[in-house]
Parts: sequence; structure tokens; C-alpha cells
Amino acid sequence: MEGLTKIDDLGKPRVVIVGGGFGGLELAKALADAPVQVVLIDKQNYHTFQPLLYQVASAGLNEGDIVSPFRKILSNQDNFYFRLAEVQGVDPVAQVVETTIGRVRYDYLVLATGATTNYFGDEQMAKNAIAIKSVDDAIELRNTVLSNFEQALQLGDMEQLNSLLDFVIVGGGPTGVEIAGALSELRTHVFPKDFRELDFKQMDIHLVQSGPVLLKGMSANASQQALESLQKFGVQVWLDARVKSYDGYTVTLNTGQQLITRTLIWAAGVTGAPIAGLRPDCLLPGNRYAVDEHNRVQGYDNVFAIGDIAAMRTAAHPEGHPMVAQPALQQGRLLGENLARLLAGKPLQPFHYQDKGAMATIGRNHAVADIKLFDKEYHLQGFPAWLAWGVVHVVSLIGFRNRLMVLLNWTWSYLSHDKGLRYIIGKAKPPLQEAEVEEKAIV
Ligand SMILES: Cc1cc2nc3c(=O)[nH]c(=O)nc-3n(C[C@H](O)[C@H](O)[C@H](O)COP(=O)(O)OP(=O)(O)OC[C@H]3O[C@@H](n4cnc5c(N)ncnc54)[C@H](O)[C@@H]3O)c2cc1C
Repeated sequence: MEGLTKIDDLGKPRVVIVGGGFGGLELAKALADAPVQVVLIDKQNYHTFQPLLYQVASAGLNEGDIVSPFRKILSNQDNFYFRLAEVQGVDPVAQVVETTIGRVRYDYLVLATGATTNYFGDEQMAKNAIAIKSVDDAIELRNTVLSNFEQALQLGDMEQLNSLLDFVIVGGGPTGVEIAGALSELRTHVFPKDFRELDFKQMDIHLVQSGPVLLKGMSANASQQALESLQKFGVQVWLDARVKSYDGYTVTLNTGQQLITRTLIWAAGVTGAPIAGLRPDCLLPGNRYAVDEHNRVQGYDNVFAIGDIAAMRTAAHPEGHPMVAQPALQQGRLLGENLARLLAGKPLQPFHYQDKGAMATIGRNHAVADIKLFDKEYHLQGFPAWLAWGVVHVVSLIGFRNRLMVLLNWTWSYLSHDKGLRYIIGKAKPPLQEAEVEEKAIV
């Protein structure tokens, strides 16, 4: 076949997995003993543990602590092949994927491309806000926060100063709550020592949530606790408020209220990251592929989708499972077993989601957790929830080194009240030009 990229042909059925996130990586591991060749294609050469991205953004962890190179994770798996490339299209008739390094043939294709930031079509927001979806985003946010304070030292004008010291976070889900809590910890324990010339009473943290509660989807108790803890930490929470516009300086809410900030953090939603080439009718609203109970994409025999990009509609989840790590992991594991069954001519097992609950941390000794165990639900808050959150995240990280580094960093931060990774390396959001600021200033 023309233009095929060079990959050994093992003479076994080839499973091509696009995306090595929670779902794709789990699937690759589950196929270790199957009589197949596994080809993982990802545009990054590492797996990202997204739940801890906010810790990189808030100088609590090093980016290297939450990522792992695919080649290292699966170095002992003989049937595993990796290619660093972006997949740009699928040709289901020729059974190839088009990538930035050429075409790759498949016998079975699994799309595990996850999701991407959703700005709901607001181009101005996409241009001016900072998202928190990738390691690059997290580093940009950390650099921007630190650069803001460095720049603020040079300013006398109060409004200009506040535009740098104040932060607006949009989205009151776990990511928004966690980043708001982390910024408030930095404001109390870390920044006043670093920037003694600045008055941190001037630093406001706003959290804007479109609905009536934070942490929608968690228990009412968890939502209320999160709200009370954030308010106790001095975060200004705006419930039932939507951001109408943001020009890089002025945030306008639907209530007419205006907030001034040069840093708006967008944690308000994601949308699937589909690949061109499949029939349009298999793509549902939210850009997720409609899949059956075996994760087979509607209308195809040998194309599957798992994780955030897949919407398996069930009575309990009419729009598909929540876009969190557990469905991706569980679907990846089961699909690995099912592909082995398929090749052995055995019947496939349907997917049943085991919801283990949800948790969010708000700051030192403060977290909320709704844990589902043996058909019972337990609601934790405060220190027990915070400890449970820490244990679950350390255990879930990939690789012993990362677990150890995270544990060491957290222990040190806990004992010292410090976050030691406050360096500016690489890109920060560029500062607005003086003339631009004057034009935008509210009088
Ligand atoms: C900031 C943040 C915090 C979160 N916190 C939590 C939490 O606390 N608990 C929880 O359960 N979930 C959390 N989530 C959600 C969770 O991370 C996702 O649900 C999960 O990662 C989905 O797994 P996935 O395998 O579907 O996709 P992902 O893990 O997103 O992986 C997708 C992979 O596909 C690759 N890819 C995408 N497109 C292409 C392409 N065209 N070509 C090649 N490669 C491609 C990407 O590089 C990536 O490696 C959080 C997400 C974010 C962003």
C-alpha cells in the first residue's frame, strides 16, 4: 500500500490505538498477552495524569512528576509499538489512519483521543483565557501567575496593579474548585514571603459558576462544604453567574458586574476530540462517538472508541458516561479482554460502569469525597477526605518514581507550608501593551 509509514509487520492482527491517555494506555496494557500487534499513536511521547495538572499550575508539583513516557511504561511489552504522530484522519475502507508521519494500516482501530477545551464558539475567550487541559497549559498558567507578580512590582496605578494580582476562574467543577483553593493557599502562605513589596490583601480570587452549586454531580453535602471552605479561604464565589465576555482585561458577567483581570482561567468545559473520516452520523452532540455496549463505533465492525471520546448511552447515563478517568480505564481494560475474545471466536462481554465516586481537594486539610464502595455511599469531608484524596492520587499515578516524587513534594509542602517549584520557564501569557491597557481601563 502507498505511503505507509515504516512499522514492523508481525504477521498478527494489528490493533492501532489513537491516544495514550487513561483509556488508550490501559487498553495497550490489557493486550500484553493477546495474539496481536499493538501500535499506539500519540501526538505526545508521554502519558499525562490530568487530575494533577492544577498542581503543576500552582507550583506544587513538577511537570515531570505527573507524566510518563510511553516507551518507558511499556518497555517490557514485546507486542507494543509506539509512534509519535498526530492522527489527522481515518479511511475506514482502506483501513488506514492518516498521520503526520504517513499512513498506518490497522485491522482494529481504537479511538481514545479524549477531549479538548470547549470555549463554546467564543473566539475572544479562546484567545484571551488560559485553559488547563495539557502540561503546556499548566506551565503557561504557572508562568503567567508568577510573571504577573514580577510585573506588578513596577506598577503604581491601583487598577493596573489589581489587574495583575486578581484572578478569575470560570467553572465550578473539580478543576475550578481545586485551582481556586491552590491560589488561595499561595496567597496566604507563599507569595507574601516572595513578594514582600506587594500587599496581598489586594489579591482577589473569583470563581464564577453558571449553576446554583459548585461540584455539580457530587452530593449536596460536598457542594456546600466546598463552597464554605472556599469562602473561608477568601475566594469570592459567584454562583448562577455566566461570563458574557472577556477581552483580556475586563470580564463582564451576565449580571452586568465587571471584574478586572489579566488572567482568566477557563475550567468551564470540554468537548470530544474526534478524528475526520468516519460517518458524520456516528458523532453525537458534544463531539463524542456513539458506541455500543462493546465500545464499537456505531456503523463499524472494527472501529472502537473508549474514554472521553466515546458516548455509550445507557438508562443511567443517557448522554454517555461522565468524562472522567474511571470510565476510560474500565473501558480500556474490558476492550482489551474483548478483542482477545473476538480473535478467539468467543462472545464479547458488555460494559457495566462501576462508579467509584468523586472527590475534590480545596486546600490543606480540606477536601470532599463521595466514595461508593460495595453498593454503599460514604461522604467524607475535611482531613479524612483530604487524606483519601491524596492516597487515591498517589496510588493512581503511573510509575514508582512519580509516586515517590509526588509523595515527597507533598510531605515537604505540608510540613513547610511552601511550594518550591516557583520558576518561570518558557511561555507566559504576554502582558498587554500600555496603550491597550489605558484604552481598556474602566473609569
Ligand atoms: C485539569 C483536569 C483535571 C481532571 N481531574 C480529574 C479528576 O480529578 N478525576 C477524574 O476522574 N478525571 C479528571 N479529569 C478527566 C480525566 O483526565 C479524563 O476523563 C481522562 O483523561 C480521559 O481519558 P481518555 O483516555 O479518554 O483521554 P485522555 O486522557 O485525554 O488522553 C487522550 C490522548 O490522546 C492524544 N491525542 C488526542 N488527539 C490525538 C490525535 N489526533 N493524534 C494523536 N494523539 C492524540 C492526547 O495526546 C492524549 O494523550 C480531569 C481532566 C482535566 C483536564
